[in-house]
Amino acid sequence: MSVFDVIIVGGGHAGTEAAAASARFGAKTALITYRADKIGEMSCNPAIGGLGKGHLVREIDALDGIMARVSDQAGIQYRLLNRSKGPAVQGPRSQADRKLYRNAMQAEIADTAGLTVIEDGVDDLILENGKIGGVVCASGNRLLAKAVVITTGTFLRGLIHRGDDRIPAGRIGEAPSTELSKRFLAMNLPLGRLKTGTPARLNTKTIAWDELELQKADEEPVPFSFLTDRILVTQVDCGITWTNEKTHNVIRENIMKSAVYSGAIEGTGPRYCPSIEDKVHKFPDRDRHQIFLEPEGLDDDTVYPNGISSSLPADVQDEFIRTIPGLERVEIFEPGYAIEYDYVDPRSLKRTLELKSQSGLYLAGQINGTTGYEEAAAQGLIAGTNAALTASGSEETFVLDRSDAYIGVMLDDLTTRGVSEPYRMFTSRAEYRLLLRADNADQRLTAIGHDIGLVKAARWKHFSDKSARISTARDHLSKLNMTPNEALAAGIEMKLDGRRRSAFDLLTYSNVSLADLISHWPELGQYQAKDIEQVEIEARYSSYLERQASDIALLKKDEKRQIPADINYNSVGSLSNEIREKLNAQRPETIAQAQRIEGMTPSAILAVLSHMRKLSQNRQREAG
Ligand code: FAD
Repeated sequence: MSVFDVIIVGGGHAGTEAAAASARFGAKTALITYRADKIGEMSCNPAIGGLGKGHLVREIDALDGIMARVSDQAGIQYRLLNRSKGPAVQGPRSQADRKLYRNAMQAEIADTAGLTVIEDGVDDLILENGKIGGVVCASGNRLLAKAVVITTGTFLRGLIHRGDDRIPAGRIGEAPSTELSKRFLAMNLPLGRLKTGTPARLNTKTIAWDELELQKADEEPVPFSFLTDRILVTQVDCGITWTNEKTHNVIRENIMKSAVYSGAIEGTGPRYCPSIEDKVHKFPDRDRHQIFLEPEGLDDDTVYPNGISSSLPADVQDEFIRTIPGLERVEIFEPGYAIEYDYVDPRSLKRTLELKSQSGLYLAGQINGTTGYEEAAAQGLIAGTNAALTASGSEETFVLDRSDAYIGVMLDDLTTRGVSEPYRMFTSRAEYRLLLRADNADQRLTAIGHDIGLVKAARWKHFSDKSARISTARDHLSKLNMTPNEALAAGIEMKLDGRRRSAFDLLTYSNVSLADLISHWPELGQYQAKDIEQVEIEARYSSYLERQASDIALLKKDEKRQIPADINYNSVGSLSNEIREKLNAQRPETIAQAQRIEGMTPSAILAVLSHMRKLSQNRQREAG
């Protein structure tokens, strides 16, 4: 019988990150998964990052996790989203070559000291005297450990739907995990059903690329990892096309054949990633929907049509896809499908991702009601670290707060509010988003990770050297100063108030660029562009950060306020439809109750508060 400190069940995005974190921490770790050749498999879209998700990838990297470095070996179309907006909402994203990603992840796992990969299925848990003792595998093997992390993704009682077809599966071509669900039921864990979907996969050779608008990669790809200097992978274009009235007619005529609309699916799907049938049904006024045609790899003929996931029968998918410009003669390699699976209500977890009712047992990834590789990986890192801490006998835990990281926002949202649909990260979920930027994830987290023993020497040196350089540049900028008249002479316009301003202060002005300062103080040219850019971002954000702190204080003060029972949420400005619907349905009595509504954002709370203030002023005016 083999004995480990920590066992990780599942080799997906949560499992690999959990295993790497546990082993990095020094725990003797086993990663048990159905198929070793599927470790790091991307079940759906071949892309990493994006808004909010890109922040998570950077945070994982800052804690010496593996996702960012693996992505940098596989990214074939890097784009920094929201480039023209401020750094707080910029999200690094890249399409990934599926095979390169899988290979890089498998190499990373194979190279991790203290980590053993075991190809098997886990059917049961060993529980002795109320304590977790290990797992029982499908092969009959019993493996012992002091802590276990379950990361089974969409596999728990997974059921694929395509039209009337129902195929028990964890994802296409792979058997589901049913025995573990039974064990969870026996443990009285609160299980629910969720669903997600994927589009058909297309043959690139049958797409009329020359008729399509193309989207290029960024000229200078911005890597995910703080350790990557340059992206060496070839960058490719993706295509853009649109659905049209013909497409919508085919879908409308057949909508009752979709597994979602025929009532065959009981689980709730992701609102933010709707199927094409949902888009056509719920937005009848829209005459077209955008589709990105994303190549799945450099030497792969498969194309992923992002935007048309569907559970319609294969022949209907064939018919509607062929109405789309550029796809008139397309060959479908594999039709799309929807998948339903069990998840565990994450309110049954502590913020360490340990079950409240079962010490030593941790859950991470899609099993906790989230969707997405990045959300899964971030949870894996937290669960793997805490499992290793528990196994070492330490009383310490590793948790992050909402003000530390997007990871902290996600842990808090999941464990306090739960989910009613697959949870996905967005920048709007974070109230401290000016502080929680993708560019400063290392400045926020690497020292925290180092203190707990999660950050290895190479990264620590890289980070310490960078921090020292930035600090020197910041001090230098703070020491240099000029009067408004000197500024004017240097071509920088400002108020003639006689006040000397430091070079650091000058950088907070939108009309002052680093180049302006270097032309006045050439010695600033000695600093690396990347480092000084970091100081520039810090300077630009310093006043906003002060304002953010006062907004947060205001929010805290207002938590106990009663919301008028007759408030009309339809007249509250700047609320998303989702939040408006939830407020109308739940009619919270206080601001604190409104804050606990799933998906509620700080800016929505501020909008409600501002509306309440207006209402109260109007009432006072009418009374007076
Ligand atoms: P997975 O990546 O699913 O990994 C689970 C792992 O556990 C697998 O390696 C499996 O072999 C292993 N395993 C399961 N049971 C056992 C067992 N009993 N014993 C041993 N090993 C086991 N995400 C998005 O962001 N956008 C989308 O549009 C999207 N659409 C999706 C569509 C489909 C059809 C599917 C299947 C997934 C989709 N996802 C999407 C979700 C994305 O794939 C997951 O969020 C992500 O992979 C979750 O990572 P994970 O590690 O939790 O699980």
